[in-house]
Amino acid sequence: MKYRAVKGTRDLLPPESERFADAEAAARRVFSSYGYGEVRTPCLEATELFARSVGETTDLVHKEMYTFPDRKGRSLTLRPENTAGVVRAVIENGLAAGPMPLRLWYEGPQFRYERPQAGRYREFRQIGAELLGVPGPAAEVEILTMLFDFLEALGFRGLTVALNSVGTAQSREAFGRALKEYLSRRSSGFGEDDRRKLEENPLRLFDSKDTAVRAALEGSPRTLDFLDAGSRRHHEEVRQLLGESGLPFRDEPSLVRGLDYYTRTVFEVTSAELGAQDAILGGGRYDNLVELLGGPALPAIGFAIGEDRLLQAAPRPAPSRSLLLVLPQGPEDLADALRLAGELRAGVGGAVEVDLLARGFKKGMARGNALFEEASARGLDSEKIFAVLLGAREREEGTVTVKRLASGDQETIPRARVAGWFEGRV
Ligand code: AMP
Repeated sequence: MKYRAVKGTRDLLPPESERFADAEAAARRVFSSYGYGEVRTPCLEATELFARSVGETTDLVHKEMYTFPDRKGRSLTLRPENTAGVVRAVIENGLAAGPMPLRLWYEGPQFRYERPQAGRYREFRQIGAELLGVPGPAAEVEILTMLFDFLEALGFRGLTVALNSVGTAQSREAFGRALKEYLSRRSSGFGEDDRRKLEENPLRLFDSKDTAVRAALEGSPRTLDFLDAGSRRHHEEVRQLLGESGLPFRDEPSLVRGLDYYTRTVFEVTSAELGAQDAILGGGRYDNLVELLGGPALPAIGFAIGEDRLLQAAPRPAPSRSLLLVLPQGPEDLADALRLAGELRAGVGGAVEVDLLARGFKKGMARGNALFEEASARGLDSEKIFAVLLGAREREEGTVTVKRLASGDQETIPRARVAGWFEGRV
């Protein structure tokens, strides 16, 4: 093999690609029912956009971006996340000056130069939503309710929000100072990288999986102890409205998300199915980001779901797709087979395939049986795979022969009644 996919990237082939498409269709259905419109921003942005918004000292910007000069020497970056791009687009296209609130969702590839491992890729996909212009707790409740609706549509149950507040930039700074002081006395076992974080951005240490760091964080200061009065009030209002909305949540005082633009509310969602996995999604408020990127002061909140991890954890729905294989006996039956396939697509639905090589019933059935053997891996319901045979006899009689692959039973029926015959069967 001469060419291989770039390390950390992968090909999505059927039926896996169809699971992605199904999840994206569910996102579109649920999010648009809340009035969210889809935004598609470029994969390429100016490097400065991420340095400003995500933060210079975050791992994401510091170590994980695909950054390169273009032919004119401009520094470009393959987007590592989509919120910064959405906010840029909102400002650039004048939406920030338009009617509020603004509701947007997106889906697409993101790029991070991380060490590839199970569930972690260098090109991965995120589904996310952003709600701009709502300062009060109703924003949190709408965003989280919509997120639950989406996850439940994919079959997740027992969902809980892990909730925290990181306050304003100032309260986060005060918290960072206290944390640094606390950890400085306990950092003897830290590696070089974690020492750098302690110096530059101690909040990032909460993302660490290192046991020395985890142990040092036991009993450390908490963000909630450093909240300014406004953030504290907001946090209480969010907890109250979430409670009244019946949305299950628990306080998670050590939750500090890895990007600098978050203010006040931060959250993750866990479920029975998500439990063992790494984080599948995260989100929070970013009340300063629009202004930071040159727009008006506009509060905002959003989330990003890792689609690859989501689908690894998603309860697999039972395959339900049907397949009708139209088998012309020879080339002289091809025109009729193509016509019949069109009628079946319109009248029955599911997938309808024609044996375009018209290799005869035997070879056609061999392919049918091979598909039958792999039905569940292909997302097909094996009870709903049928061959529809068209040959000299059928042509003469004006019939077709229908064969159910699961049982091998076959029946010859009048051509005019074939679509109706499938009713209740696929
Ligand atoms: P973040 O933008 O870092 O808050 O990440 C949001 C979600 O994206 C995470 O919870 C993951 O599910 C997903 N994610 C982040 N990085 C990767 C990666 N390298 N590969 C796959 N999924 C990822």
